[in-house]
Amino acid sequence: MVMVTGSEYLDRINRLESEVWVGGERVKGPISEHPVFKGVMKSQAELYDLQHEINLKDKMFYDDLPTGEKVGMSYLIPKSRAELRDRRKMIQVWARHTAGLMGRSPDYMNTALAAFASSTTILTDQPNCFPDNLKNFYEYAIAHDLSFTHTFINPQNNRSLLAFIEENSTNARVVKRIEEGIVIKGAKLLATQGGITDEIIVFSAPGIQDPSHAFAFSIPSNTEGLKFVCRKSFIQDDSKYNSPLSSRFEEMDSIVIFDDVLIPWDRVFFYDNVKTANEFYKDGNFVPFALHQIVSRQVVKLEFILGIAELIVDTINIREYQHVQSKVTEIIKGLETSKALLLVSEIQAEQNDQGVMVPDRTPLYVAVNQFQEAYPRFTEIIQILGASGMVLLPEEEQFTSAIGQQLEHYLQGFEMNGRDRVQLFSLAFDLCMSGFGSRQTLYERFFFGDPVRLSQIIYQSYDLDQPVAFVNEMIEKNKLT
Ligand SMILES: Cc1cc2nc3c(=O)[nH]c(=O)nc-3n(C[C@H](O)[C@H](O)[C@H](O)COP(=O)(O)OP(=O)(O)OC[C@H]3O[C@@H](n4cnc5c(N)ncnc54)[C@H](O)[C@@H]3O)c2cc1C
Repeated sequence: MVMVTGSEYLDRINRLESEVWVGGERVKGPISEHPVFKGVMKSQAELYDLQHEINLKDKMFYDDLPTGEKVGMSYLIPKSRAELRDRRKMIQVWARHTAGLMGRSPDYMNTALAAFASSTTILTDQPNCFPDNLKNFYEYAIAHDLSFTHTFINPQNNRSLLAFIEENSTNARVVKRIEEGIVIKGAKLLATQGGITDEIIVFSAPGIQDPSHAFAFSIPSNTEGLKFVCRKSFIQDDSKYNSPLSSRFEEMDSIVIFDDVLIPWDRVFFYDNVKTANEFYKDGNFVPFALHQIVSRQVVKLEFILGIAELIVDTINIREYQHVQSKVTEIIKGLETSKALLLVSEIQAEQNDQGVMVPDRTPLYVAVNQFQEAYPRFTEIIQILGASGMVLLPEEEQFTSAIGQQLEHYLQGFEMNGRDRVQLFSLAFDLCMSGFGSRQTLYERFFFGDPVRLSQIIYQSYDLDQPVAFVNEMIEKNKLT
């Protein structure tokens, strides 16, 4: 069995003592006890423990044939539709535990790494490319059930199409190629969960043009010269009653700084090769498999949002209003559309030359792009239905104080006591209006790239010849003779 337990994960990350900066100070001591990280690390540990739960075991692992070991399902490179479905089921077990609110639960990057490892033919015989390093690293990650953060995008200082002409001193780049490896200096935009994973996988941003920016590697989070500088935390307080979501799932985002970081050769997957860097992203298996993981999670998250909306409707008894029904139906339509697109991607999956069963990326792109646009509307619907209930949220301490009884009475809902009603609305607030909730909205909008450019990709890659031929055929038939 090579699946870690929660406490093994916590222990391993604590021992790394990676350089993580919060509020102007370097984190000292066990990071899993730090107020900013303890909630999310506990949740992550619970995910690892779920791998060992007897009644879930069949869903959580597969038998690795070469070693005979049981391996976490999210590392599986599927060879059949049934295996693709098994991946989805496992992803959704973890997503259900976090209500889909941890975008970077370990299955996200395990999926990415499996997809990279299944795309190594793109690197074969190309200059400065090391497909065997990637394959070996994939095996190593499986053998230790490693956790990962990742960073792709360069800092946001000049997004003009002509930015590449300007001298750039911020982007992480190769500054030395020496006997021991390559040396990286500069920064990458951000890494969600930066500093609380075993390793960080670093890839070129899609569409780069400068060879020194074209690289891919993985290094331990405590590599010398590597710094994770965190944003302000969105945890309001520790209480699961007051802050039910942020106290457990605030993943944190960090800027990643490389101060002359040495990447040993055996960890370099490619470098100084713009053509391969762009092809690896565009033509490899990363996009379809990452999208499959994402939509599997988003389906669970949508179910959670729908549940909250319907409970609000129940709690203040507003079901009879037609606009209320149509607003909840908007969420139902989003959920059913995502579910259908996910299944279509599996039905239309095709085995590639290497025998990998690759989900159809088009329905998945459509699902993610729609979600990017629809997610803010779903949170808006919760606000519209909840109205003042979204802010009249006395804390736990008020209910246990001398005025608790009065609050129980005056804040009661329709067939629900005051304490339970406030608990439900606190959940809705944390999802839609707190700092944590707003970050969730931004995350769903942007984490897989800019929605505008994603819709451009769909347009540019969609087979439009068939519908055009269809119309031309009709025009031909109706031509005046
Ligand atoms: C909460 C959160 C977590 C994230 N986590 C990670 C992570 O863990 N790892 C990681 O690598 N990345 C992560 N990202 C980064 C994510 O990939 C980027 O936010 C995304 O690719 C958009 O890039 P940007 O933020 O630099 O926006 P920009 O590219 O700077 O876009 C800003 C605005 O300019 C417009 N614009 C810019 N360029 C163009 C263009 N060429 N054509 C048309 N319009 C343009 C955009 O439409 C947008 O409106 C995360 C982002 C968020 C918000």
